[in-house]
Amino acid sequence: MRGMEPELERAVELVERYRSTAPHRPVRPARAGVALVEEFAAELSDDGEDPLAVLSRMADVAEPGLLHTGDRRFFGWVIGGALPVAVAADWLVAAWDQNVAAHACSPAGAAVEEVAAAWIRDLLGLPAHASYAFTTGCQMAHVVALAAARHRVLVDRGWDVESSGLAGGPPIRVLVGAHHETLLRAVRFLGIGTDAIVEVPQRTAGGIDVERLGDELRRGPGRPTIVALAAGDLDRGAFDDFAAACDVAHEHEAWVHVDGAFGLWAAASPRFRPLTEGIERADSWATDMHKWLSVPYDVGAAFVRDRDAHRAAMAIPAAYKVETTGVRDPFDWGPEWSRRARGFPVYATLRHLGRRGVAGIVEACCDRARELVAQLGALPNVEVLAEPIVNQGLVRFLDPGPAPDHDARTRAVIAAIVADGRAWFGPTTWRSVVAMRVSVSNWQTDAADVATVVEAVRDAIRQVEDQVEDQEEESTSGGKRTDG
Ligand SMILES: *Cc1c(COP(=O)(O)O)cnc(C)c1O
Repeated sequence: MRGMEPELERAVELVERYRSTAPHRPVRPARAGVALVEEFAAELSDDGEDPLAVLSRMADVAEPGLLHTGDRRFFGWVIGGALPVAVAADWLVAAWDQNVAAHACSPAGAAVEEVAAAWIRDLLGLPAHASYAFTTGCQMAHVVALAAARHRVLVDRGWDVESSGLAGGPPIRVLVGAHHETLLRAVRFLGIGTDAIVEVPQRTAGGIDVERLGDELRRGPGRPTIVALAAGDLDRGAFDDFAAACDVAHEHEAWVHVDGAFGLWAAASPRFRPLTEGIERADSWATDMHKWLSVPYDVGAAFVRDRDAHRAAMAIPAAYKVETTGVRDPFDWGPEWSRRARGFPVYATLRHLGRRGVAGIVEACCDRARELVAQLGALPNVEVLAEPIVNQGLVRFLDPGPAPDHDARTRAVIAAIVADGRAWFGPTTWRSVVAMRVSVSNWQTDAADVATVVEAVRDAIRQVEDQVEDQEEESTSGGKRTDG
């Protein structure tokens, strides 16, 4: 470690301390809420403080307030834990302190993205010529992709949105099936507005109803239209029928965008690839590397078939440029100017894992999700609402009492599991009932974890049952007292 600044050495020590507690600590945070703000609060000094003391104290206060989303038994959202190689590459990014706005500003930072993007297109079965932008996540990937879509569907009708804005132009409509909130927010950011969104019904088995999509498209012939499809929705991991949906959308000259934040990675597995059949026929795709690829936050990407539309929507006027021939400037393709060199951890992770490594993570998560949902379903008073298609499933906990409130019971059991600390799950509402979402997206989760989690859930169910019985006894004896 000769030559390394003591601050960086301290960081390594603190990381060692944090990571060594991983096998024993609860997944939930020990502390949360406003109390934490108070713990961080201090008078900002005039003369500054010793950097080593600052780092140690910050870590001491922070660690109890961390939700360990990178834990092997975290099943709350599709978050995924970062691989060590990815974390290490991310440290290098910080230490190199690169700004990858333009090639001239970080030649290596820009170049590595070119290679990482090509590998991703290949792994995910996207067109080799599609343009790309690395973004903070899928949210901004939607913004980039839909900005390209907005440009294309309007310029084809004689309207230049980049100079004229949207007011007075032909109104865009956006047809969606299963969708994530980030898609709606991208539509807001782009000034299209959520009133432009038309929800197309889904089939009971999951996936957009392509016939109804066709009906909708026929309702507004000639209108500038974007169709947003989903590769892996958050409830069941359902996939739309991309081939059929692209056929009908393109017949009507609509732009097809795919949200594949995590689901697009199914294409990296020969076993799950058939779910994404036809996806290469879409016009744009948004995905994340910080979920299933197990890269630290924050990195997602947009891919766009129509490079010209992508560039027209994003490019910076030439006056700002330092010319370097044959290379691209990232700020011509993404929404940011200055930004971190987020291509490095992606590059290192892909290179470390190789094709089989990426497929292995996807397949292991899907297998563990199936096992976990099946074993939870075998517990008393557990109902499986959705079997995983990939790595997402839904269960709920049934109240066996005479006036059952399954929603309240489900919330209570989830709270008991979280408090127990062996695992972490969150609630969702699916088809008007409260459910527990089971998302398996950590590269470390194994069969022993599944067994541990099933035990934890069994204990939580019992604990809630005991609580309810105690309360009933109390209320009957309490009732007697008031009566008497
Ligand atoms: C996580 C997620 C998003 C949002 O991605 P961010 O990287 O958090 O911006 C969008 N769509 C789906 C399906 C997701 O799972």
